Amino acid sequence: MDKKPFVTKEQLEEIVKQYPTPFHLYDERGIRENARRLREAFSWNKGFKEYFAVKATPNPYILQILKECGCGTDCSSATELMLSDGVGFSGREIMFSSNNTPAGEFKLADSLGAIINLDDITHIESVERELGGIPEVISCRYNPGGLFAISNEIMDNPGDAKYGMTTEQLFQAFRILQEKGAKEFGIHAFLASNTVTNDYYPVLAKILFEVAVRLREETGIPVSFINLSGGIGIAYRPDQEPNDIAAIGEGVKKAYEEVLVPAGMGDVAIYTELGRFMLGPYGCLVSTAIHEKHTYKEYIGLDACAVDLMRPAMYGAYHHITVMGKEDAPWDRKYDVTGSLCENNDKFAVDRMLPEIRIGDLLVIHDTGAHGFAMGYNYNGKLKSAELLLKEDGTVQLIRRAETPRDYFATLDGCGMMEKYL
Ligand SMILES: *Cc1c(COP(=O)(O)O)cnc(C)c1O
Repeated sequence: MDKKPFVTKEQLEEIVKQYPTPFHLYDERGIRENARRLREAFSWNKGFKEYFAVKATPNPYILQILKECGCGTDCSSATELMLSDGVGFSGREIMFSSNNTPAGEFKLADSLGAIINLDDITHIESVERELGGIPEVISCRYNPGGLFAISNEIMDNPGDAKYGMTTEQLFQAFRILQEKGAKEFGIHAFLASNTVTNDYYPVLAKILFEVAVRLREETGIPVSFINLSGGIGIAYRPDQEPNDIAAIGEGVKKAYEEVLVPAGMGDVAIYTELGRFMLGPYGCLVSTAIHEKHTYKEYIGLDACAVDLMRPAMYGAYHHITVMGKEDAPWDRKYDVTGSLCENNDKFAVDRMLPEIRIGDLLVIHDTGAHGFAMGYNYNGKLKSAELLLKEDGTVQLIRRAETPRDYFATLDGCGMMEKYL
């Protein structure tokens, strides 16, 4: 598949007159159309709701768009709860799927009316201690252990993951929660990440549906929602076939009709907590080539670096690059495309075939809408970039300004030595 940016060279040349590179740019139209496709794919399920994983793109303007698309939020920390609250999410629009949860966070989640999803059986006590009881609505995170495979292909290793409860603990947790007054129950699991296959959700759903049926048989507890969490991936590479969300919705429906409906559980709501799938392709990192270097290899240096996008440095992840205006030139140069950190893994691409790049060229690094800006940090004293929104009407809105040295020094409260920068 040919990967094309959602923005043209002419649009970018206008944008950079006002907002210097590097910046992350988001595509409102793409976000809305994709959210609509997801909703349609699960429209067969009456209670369906997507809880957007805030950690993927923690920007209130993005959350606002998703709210208008009918999504809730999935939070893993106090500040993500605050972001949700600030945007106006409340009650059952918020899922709190934390782990190793710091003290006080269950209380904050409960004060907003969020659904609490327990990562561990010992968290029952933590919740009781903080809230003085168990909320009426509660969810438990399941980890069946072992390897997670789809038709013999190993997708991930839940047995090695820190998340969730064993099967035994899950059943025991539900019994305890019921005794302590919980009235409505849900099951959650996240067993594989960034899956590029239409089978992940259907296979996961079948596992969870079967657990739900067993749970009702053995404990009498009827779960009212099943949360398939995140894990639907995107095609970062041009040769990958993107997931077909309609086919995924159909696959889950088939498992639902095979397992839940015959068990008389045809009213269970399906929840999702997608992050990457909701935003990944609808954001890009826009950067300018500022240096070229010819040593043992050919290097192009950008004004962005790994603090703007950590995935290549952290996971060796592939992010497609378009040199704007040179799409049709021969891709006959082999480059390492680098940032300016004093870390040799600060490379957006290694041995990448690209058109010849000149200083001043604008580069679009694709698929940075999720886990892009969000993973940013300040190593080497680098400042975090701006976030811009390309709106449906073609205008651009600054939705987070770039950091300044003052932001970087702001936590040195009262430090006289830095006063002239504060
Ligand atoms: C990270 C995360 C998600 C989102 O994962 P994606 O791969 O971005 O879809 C959802 N739920 C939980 C609990 C997570 O930790």
